[in-house]
Amino acid sequence: MKRVVVIGNGMVGSRFVDELMREASRCDAKFDVTILGDEPYEAYNRLMLSEVIAGRAEIGALTLPAPPEGIVVHSGVAAQSIERSRRIVIDAEGRAHPYDVLVLATGADAALPAIPGLRAARGRDVHTVRTIDDCRELLAAASMSTPEAPRRMAVLGGGLLGVEIACGLRARGVDVSLVHRGTHVMDRQIDAPSGVMAGATLADLGIDVRTGSGITRVLRSKGRVTGVELIDGTCLDVDDLVVNTGVRPRVDLARAAGVPVDVGVLVDTRLRVLDDESVAAIGDCAQTDVGCPGLIAPGWDQAARLAHDLCHGTPVGSAEPGEHVADELSIVKLKAVGLETVVLGDRIPDPFVAHERGLRVVTLSDVGARRSATVAVDGDRIVAAVIIGSARMAADLTATYERRTPLPLDPAHLLVKGASTSGLVPETASPTALPSGATVCRCNGVTKGDVVDAHVQGARSVEAVASETRATTGCGGCTSTVCGILKWMDEVDPVDEKVAV
Ligand SMILES: Cc1cc2nc3c(=O)[nH]c(=O)nc-3n(C[C@H](O)[C@H](O)[C@H](O)COP(=O)(O)OP(=O)(O)OC[C@H]3O[C@@H](n4cnc5c(N)ncnc54)[C@H](O)[C@@H]3O)c2cc1C
Repeated sequence: MKRVVVIGNGMVGSRFVDELMREASRCDAKFDVTILGDEPYEAYNRLMLSEVIAGRAEIGALTLPAPPEGIVVHSGVAAQSIERSRRIVIDAEGRAHPYDVLVLATGADAALPAIPGLRAARGRDVHTVRTIDDCRELLAAASMSTPEAPRRMAVLGGGLLGVEIACGLRARGVDVSLVHRGTHVMDRQIDAPSGVMAGATLADLGIDVRTGSGITRVLRSKGRVTGVELIDGTCLDVDDLVVNTGVRPRVDLARAAGVPVDVGVLVDTRLRVLDDESVAAIGDCAQTDVGCPGLIAPGWDQAARLAHDLCHGTPVGSAEPGEHVADELSIVKLKAVGLETVVLGDRIPDPFVAHERGLRVVTLSDVGARRSATVAVDGDRIVAAVIIGSARMAADLTATYERRTPLPLDPAHLLVKGASTSGLVPETASPTALPSGATVCRCNGVTKGDVVDAHVQGARSVEAVASETRATTGCGGCTSTVCGILKWMDEVDPVDEKVAV
């Protein structure tokens, strides 16, 4: 029996344990697993914290399915040191946890820029959004907002998360200024025209958008934040500052143990640290050849690879073990109240540069309706698209992209309502109309058929389906579809009262 110690009970550490036990049950391998998690909670869905801020999810609903039986989980207990020569981890309560394999899944912290006055006010009026505790703290501040005296907050960083947080706070009645150094919001993900459309929508929501700007100083009086000074010298009167300027992998523990570290813990193609076969790193704390993406899909991919490797001695999957699958489809759906945004594939290239490379870039823009869609097509497939303000168009293009459906000769038809959508099923369609093979949960590759099978096997609630199939445990965007399928199945296949009693 191999002893496996996992440090970090986050989204990737907990997924790894689930993968390991599933794989072990298939091949009869035996593992004795201990998880150390310094947060005093069961593993939870971190992606959904922005939905909690927006008031669209409860903290209690974020808990991920419980680990398989027999796993020892120490919640609220940090790993304090690693003695690699003796292969033990010492926890904050002084206990020693011996291991044959150690998995570092320590995630990342919110990065704090070096702005005078910022660190001193952290935790009181300067917030980040990484944990349940951060989220509670920010909600407590937002709850002081009233229609007569709205709380004023500056959100620094207009990337995906910054925009989600700004919209969520605005939906709670907070006066929000979004300060972003790029020329347009989400500039790392979307092209300028789409970014301008998104910025206009944010302004319509009542958010004061300041692009091409930054904060040079946090102004304080009597220990409280009173404002922020921007690079052009303007001062904004605010009560709080919410910082969303990226993340920093948590590597202190690894570094102290002498593990080679750069930005993240350096790992080889089998996710092992460079100088020790018995130590692996996965998720946001790990640095592979593609860097530290800070996204869930590569972390889950690594969790599956490492689990397979430990059971069979080889990583599962592509020719380049340890790497994120290059051909993987990238679908990002923004979780922002009032700003429907979907980003598919790579970043949209400049249309003229794209033309020289043989790509076609087509845009449809309707400023009055705050709606735009840009799609880049390479031969017979969509390589990138950004859709703002149109759920229907987003659903159609996503389905075409995902299923690699043949494209019309003129890609403009992709964007014209009704054209080329025959045979495609929009996300919002009734569950009865969805074909069995339609993907319901993109994060976990779960189809309608999988949810129906789970229901037939007795999974009658979203939690039970999540536990059975993992649907809803990623971005959470499929929760309403899963509920719809369950409701429909309850009608066509009700619980047999006699059996149920
Ligand atoms: C609000 C929000 C929204 C997001 N939305 C998206 C999204 O839409 N799409 C996407 O791809 N990604 C998103 N992300 C990023 C995604 O959540 C991360 O990529 C993912 O959580 C990484 O998982 P992880 O397990 O590596 O790290 P984490 O989830 O951070 O978990 C690491 C855990 O290890 C614990 N830990 C650290 N050190 C120790 C120690 N010494 N001892 C014990 N425990 C320790 C930490 O406290 C933490 O609980 C979002 C993140 C946030 C905060």
